[in-house]
Amino acid sequence: MADPKGFLSTDREVAETRPVETRVKDWNEVYVPGSLLPIISKQAGRCMDCGIPFCHNGCPLGNLIPEWNDYAYREDWREASERLHATNNFPEFTGRLCPAPCESACVLGINQPAVTIKNVEVTIIDKAWDSGDVTPQPPERLSGKTVAVIGSGPAGLAAAQQLTRAGHTVAVYERADRIGGLLRYGIPEFKMEKRHINRRIEQMRAEGTKFRTETEIGRDIDAAKLRKRYDAVVIAAGATTSRDLPVPGRELNGIHFAMEYLPLANKVQEGDLTTSPITAEGKHVVVIGGGDTGADCVGTAHRQGAASVTQLEIMAKPGEERAPGQPWPTFPMLYKVTSAHEEGGERIYSVSTTHFEGDEDGNVQWLHLIEVEFKDGKLEQKPGTERKIPAQLVTLAMGFTGTDQKNGLVEQFGLELDERGNIARDADFATNVPGVFVAGDAGRGQSLIVWAIAEGRSAARGVDRHLAGASELPAPIRPTDRALMV
Ligand SMILES: Cc1cc2nc3c(=O)[nH]c(=O)nc-3n(C[C@H](O)[C@H](O)[C@H](O)COP(=O)(O)OP(=O)(O)OC[C@H]3O[C@@H](n4cnc5c(N)ncnc54)[C@H](O)[C@@H]3O)c2cc1C
Ligand code: SF4
Repeated sequence: MADPKGFLSTDREVAETRPVETRVKDWNEVYVPGSLLPIISKQAGRCMDCGIPFCHNGCPLGNLIPEWNDYAYREDWREASERLHATNNFPEFTGRLCPAPCESACVLGINQPAVTIKNVEVTIIDKAWDSGDVTPQPPERLSGKTVAVIGSGPAGLAAAQQLTRAGHTVAVYERADRIGGLLRYGIPEFKMEKRHINRRIEQMRAEGTKFRTETEIGRDIDAAKLRKRYDAVVIAAGATTSRDLPVPGRELNGIHFAMEYLPLANKVQEGDLTTSPITAEGKHVVVIGGGDTGADCVGTAHRQGAASVTQLEIMAKPGEERAPGQPWPTFPMLYKVTSAHEEGGERIYSVSTTHFEGDEDGNVQWLHLIEVEFKDGKLEQKPGTERKIPAQLVTLAMGFTGTDQKNGLVEQFGLELDERGNIARDADFATNVPGVFVAGDAGRGQSLIVWAIAEGRSAARGVDRHLAGASELPAPIRPTDRALMV
């Protein structure tokens, strides 16, 4: 156990953020670099090394949290990193971006603030990179088997790294011009600087994983050809079809899916564009959708110099305390103030968009909304509450409906879908097509990075068993696992 009295003597402290007025002028991560190191060992010392560590169950990866808390407390960073990597290929992604269901499940959280597990995680991995402890781990021998991974988001990368290390020859196919999936072109630079992806890709290349960008399976290479060329295929193509809002005026200029808006801002940061063709500069911006994607649009609009930013949410404002139906140790729906919300803008809850209004040139100018409430499980509009708000740029961030089928991927492979429209799979993450597996949002539906990594790792074990008859790779989850997420 780290410090037997740590949880009594030390209050929870988290990473310090840079002042709002400074950070909205740049795109760097919002945290003060190096602010965690002086405090983190004491924070790790708050861990009680519980007999039943509920944090394990909260984490889809089954992270060995009390073990690395202990090493972090003792400042044995190398051992801490070794324990961290035992269950997670990319802790620098989860340590920055995960909503930390482990912290919601932490036993300390029953009657005082939980251990700051995510901050401990990111400190361990950043230190490991800085001290050169993260090195390539190429396989000792090759199996002679080949695997194609479709999609280079966290699920595809985790599957590829596990399979390469198991000795298989792996090629990752990505339709975009860079590797990373939503980590690269969804999540803005201020939440995670892309240098973190780049150095992982270098590690993976050095281990032997091959990457093929700007190659869309279904269009550039058809499924039959791919199956012929490889002994197994992992589909990690994400759930990239955005949910639309088919109300009058949707066709006006200036109304875009979040995933049309955000990638362009990321491309500016990559140096591909000088300015984004869809910019919030000087405009009244309305973001429809109150989740993380919406918050990313809010933070992006602030940095582009929006005149105002309003975020709309159809659901009622969540409480700041756990609701009775979401007790510890489940992951509760709570009112969240993300870094983007700290930077300004207004959030309006319990409203629905009725239509958009434009000017004579067809550019959106106003968004009309009405207040709504749920009655007996049904959404009802409140008569007399209609109003309009200025809207010269609107982003639709209302979630995703499933994997992209326009490129023929699903049809060409002959894949069965489940009742939610995702690619169906069995307990080994195998689809109905022999030798074809699925991992991440493509099979699970829109989810989280931590689930994508866990699924990639588990699917890799399924592939390894298929190719070699047995596998020593770990399988943290089954497709139906929901851990403690409500
Ligand atoms: C804006 C935004 C912000 C988010 N923020 C967070 C966050 O802060 N924390 C968090 O935990 N989760 C977040 N998420 C969710 C998280 O990013 C996803 O759950 C996760 O990336 C899913 O990983 P994946 O590997 O399954 O798919 P993806 O990351 O979607 O990657 C799929 C890849 O497959 C490629 N592809 C698709 N079809 C083909 C094809 N036919 N041929 C070749 N390539 C193909 C796509 O181009 C894409 O690169 C966010 C999502 C969005 C949209
Ligand atoms: S539940 Fe919290 S206190 Fe207990 S072992 Fe996990 S991190 Fe430590």
